[in-house]
Amino acid sequence: MIVGKQKPIAEIKEIISPYKKVLVLGCGTCVKTCFAGGEDEVATLSSALRLSCKKEGKDIYIEELTVERQCEDEFIREAAIAISKNSAVLSLACGAGVQAIARRFGDVPVLPGVNTTFIGVLEKQGLFTEECLGCGDCKLAAFGGICPVTRCAKKLQNGPCGGSQNGICEVNPDTECAWQQIITRLGNLGQLDNLKKYNPPKDWRPSHAGGPRKLVREDHFI
Ligand code: SF4
Ligand code: SF4
Repeated sequence: MIVGKQKPIAEIKEIISPYKKVLVLGCGTCVKTCFAGGEDEVATLSSALRLSCKKEGKDIYIEELTVERQCEDEFIREAAIAISKNSAVLSLACGAGVQAIARRFGDVPVLPGVNTTFIGVLEKQGLFTEECLGCGDCKLAAFGGICPVTRCAKKLQNGPCGGSQNGICEVNPDTECAWQQIITRLGNLGQLDNLKKYNPPKDWRPSHAGGPRKLVREDHFI
């Protein structure tokens, strides 16, 4: 899922300050799961904004709405009436959701309320970890399902740098060495021979290095 964190309320207040009527628009998918922009966060943030603005004598109307996904037209449509009644939208979706709303409603300012951070997993309650950089050419099969592109600080493709101590990355002492994990995992899978195979330099052309990407599925065209 896409993991993000709600912006500090002071920054949000600054962003919405030019507007008198603001729709706080949540997204019920990824950002809900990481407690950044689902229905509950919309309600909490809206109350906090109302209270704070009232205390400061600022005249602002805040409306709340959450749609299931802000990155899909089918769900975006559900927000059309609420958007038309407000002078700006504060989107609590990821950056893709914010842009999808802005694209559909060209004459309404759409403002980000969340800092989109990474593609990751919920490792345990309250802990999200980055697992994929969306490189466009997945090689997890060679690495026992552990991604050195994302999880090795040096993105090494052919074994460890030799700097790890007790399984901890030499670059970041808060992080386990990805290559230590890869070797352990390949051992558990009986696939240590993978380590004898040379992995050629990574082709970054399918990655974001080539600019924004598109995925075309003509079989789904209508
Ligand atoms: S190899 Fe690329 S696509 Fe696969 S997990 Fe790593 S970054 Fe993601
Ligand atoms: S210590 Fe391990 S994770 Fe850190 S940069 Fe070296 S090989 Fe990569």
